[in-house]
Amino acid sequence: AVKDKGRNSYHFFDSTMNETVLNKFALENDLRKAIEQDQLELYFQPKVNPLTHELVGAEVLLRWKHPERGMISPAIFIPVAEESGYIVELGQWVLKQACIINSGWQSQGMPIVPLAINMSSANFRHPDLLAGVQRSLDESKLLPSFLVLELTEGILMQDISSTIDTLQALKTMGVSLSVDDFGTGYSSLHYLKRFPIDELKIDRSFVQDIVTDPNDAAITAAIIGLAQNLKLSVVAEGVETTEQADFLLQRGCITMQGFLFARPMPKGEFERFMMQSLQMAQQHKGVFMVDQ
Ligand code: C2E
Ligand code: MG
Ligand code: MG
Ligand code: MG
Repeated sequence: AVKDKGRNSYHFFDSTMNETVLNKFALENDLRKAIEQDQLELYFQPKVNPLTHELVGAEVLLRWKHPERGMISPAIFIPVAEESGYIVELGQWVLKQACIINSGWQSQGMPIVPLAINMSSANFRHPDLLAGVQRSLDESKLLPSFLVLELTEGILMQDISSTIDTLQALKTMGVSLSVDDFGTGYSSLHYLKRFPIDELKIDRSFVQDIVTDPNDAAITAAIIGLAQNLKLSVVAEGVETTEQADFLLQRGCITMQGFLFARPMPKGEFERFMMQSLQMAQQHKGVFMVDQ
């Protein structure tokens, strides 16, 4: 559309708007070539149990190494992909890659854990969703219990009756479901109970100030209690300090993700992390058994 209006339309934009529009347009174009040109890479961020040193899972986070602009954050390019509709293809690619990589680890005898991928609304609402997930599992031969889909409250609350059907179908396939950035959206507790979900992820914005802000501490404790009552797992995201981790442990949240434990990392580095945490967890278990 920008192109069609011709050169004269330049004068109708102020310069910052002009730049934003052109910038976005360029990014969108580049993004369409990014998969083919091998510029996109899956990074992995561990979810850990700090008490036992166990690696309990990992989240897949997409990275884009742009040939001229360097690393571009998903916080920038995912919204561009969503607006342009390209997210459908991008999301399918991430799903497929994640399954292939995890299944590859399994066949190499690595101590594999469930991998969570982030799902955009257009992917969740896509008519090919269920068939696409099944295809990715079949083609990679990954067990469905090693795939987790992270969905935000906003996505879940969009069309509740179709949401419940889709979640149910995914559960029947054996895939796990997690609610991302929990507490920042508007989910109704009434529906939360009816969604066949497995996990709540407490948003980083609450975790950030739990030690200093009594409101955030109260909200975090309430989410942990809610998860326990609904028999859901609970994960805290964005844990950066031992004080935050201690607070969470005291309130009963034993699964954490954050820079305190590990940053999102490329595949090779994550493989080493997997092997190390296996050793640490075994040592911990050994000590535990001697104590008894
Ligand atoms: P998210 O799903 O909530 O992912 C967590 C974000 O928090 C990641 O940012 C991660 O790097 C960051 N994070 C983790 N621990 C800490 C910490 O201790 N401190 C701080 N400051 N940050 C931490 P990232 O990788 O930049 O991703 C941003 C968002 O982009 C994600 O938020 C997710 O919504 C979206 N995203 C990333 N990859 C994909 C993807 O493959 N598909 C889709 N649809 N969205 C994606
Ligand atoms: Mg996420
Ligand atoms: Mg999140
Ligand atoms: Mg977040």
